[in-house]
Parts: sequence; structure tokens; C-alpha cells
Amino acid sequence: MLSIPHALTGFVIVKTIEIYVPNTGIEFLWQDLTFWLIAAPFSSLSHRLLDNINENGLSTKEQTNYDAIPHLLIYALAVFTGNLEAFAKGSLTGNFPDIVDKKGYIAIFYRRIPKLKKAIDKIIAKNNWISKVAKYMTEFSYYMHSKKPPIMNPSPVTTKIIGVVSAILIVIILIKT
Ligand SMILES: [Zn+2]
Repeated sequence: MLSIPHALTGFVIVKTIEIYVPNTGIEFLWQDLTFWLIAAPFSSLSHRLLDNINENGLSTKEQTNYDAIPHLLIYALAVFTGNLEAFAKGSLTGNFPDIVDKKGYIAIFYRRIPKLKKAIDKIIAKNNWISKVAKYMTEFSYYMHSKKPPIMNPSPVTTKIIGVVSAILIVIILIKT
């Protein structure tokens, strides 16, 4: 699954909980608690479920044009519609296992810039604290990702369509809420 469908699911979960969990008066703390205790875990778990739909056959350029760039544009729209916090919470938690796995998306450039991987690996190996964090993060993302192969293997075109439809749905929610 590309990052936009994961962001859509996370955003819907965060928004739903913000709207339907009743306010208590201690609004700030309450919203934080409902986010960390309900929305964030559900959103991260939705990732594992959604990854049953594979994303294959897309080139790095297609992933950039159909996923990375529209995702960034949606962030810009979220700023203008005053939904940045809710969208960022949904997008970051919905994509959390991949963010950990791809080292904050730096790893997607490894194939094109092999030197980058070497440089990052060197930084990790050199610093005891960073290498410890990296080790735990790797373990964590291992458990956050299913060990079974994906159930559905859509064609590259279908993968693109899923991305575009998800993007449109996010835009509608951003504008309407
Ligand atoms: Zn994933």
C-alpha cells in the first residue's frame, strides 16, 4: 500500500475519534489522551491490515508522482484548511511502520544514491545510542508488518487508482470539515 491510502485511513480514524468522543471540559488533555490511547494505536494497526493489498510494479518516478508529491500537496491543503494537526496525526500514525522501516523515507533514495545508504549506515554504526534506537526500531517495524505475503496483488494501474481515489477523499474531508 502506498502512503496516501494509509494517510486516509489514519486521518479518518483521528477525525472520527475527535468528532465522536465526547468533550469533557479538560479538552486539551482529553484530546491528547484519546489520540495516544485510541486513535494512534488503531491508526498504526490499520497499516498492517491495509498492507494486505500489495503495491508493486511502480517505478520510483511513479511513486514520486503518484504518492510522494500528492501527499505533500495534501499537507499544504491541510495547512490552508486548518486541518494540519488532525491530518498530520493521521498521516504519521497511519504510515508509522513504514516511516520506521524506511528510516523516515530516507531509505527510498538508497537505490538511486547508494552512497547515501553507506553514509547512513556509517552514522548508525558509529553512534552507540543511534544504533540501539535503530535496532529497536527495526524490531518494532518487523512486528508492525505482517509476515504473510499480501492477499491482493493489484496491477500498477490499480495501485495508482487506489492512490488517486484516496487523495480525492482526503481532499473532500479537508475541505468539508
Ligand atoms: Zn507498510
